[in-house]
Amino acid sequence: MIELIVAARCTGCNVCVKVCPTDVFDVSDNGPPRIARPSACQTCFMCELYCDADALYVGPDCAASGAVEEQALLAQGALGRYRRDSGWGAWSSDPDHSNEHWRMELVFALARALDSADTPPR
Ligand code: SF4
Ligand code: SF4
Repeated sequence: MIELIVAARCTGCNVCVKVCPTDVFDVSDNGPPRIARPSACQTCFMCELYCDADALYVGPDCAASGAVEEQALLAQGALGRYRRDSGWGAWSSDPDHSNEHWRMELVFALARALDSADTPPR
């Protein structure tokens, strides 16, 4: 789930606003976009993938927001890690970082559970 935007890194490009499929963000007149509808976040990581400034953090839990701390995330190098490990942008030609999707595990597990719940017994 979307957790935070680091204002000091955000360039105000508003790409995250455009790519979010569920309209989570609102454009701000000055400063970074506002996380206006966090409960609409479907943890697709699109905003992280498209943020060239590595200013966004999406947590792996698709059901609830976690207690994240900006300085801790920065110290861990968590911002931009998903872009890197997915082989996007500057990492696209690096064979060590090729579309690992490692943080989607919980999302895929939930999708599988929902799918099996919808499947009628045979
Ligand atoms: S994509 Fe990144 S840099 Fe651009 S507005 Fe969103 S958070 Fe800021
Ligand atoms: S993770 Fe997906 S749904 Fe959530 S804010 Fe980012 S782009 Fe929108």
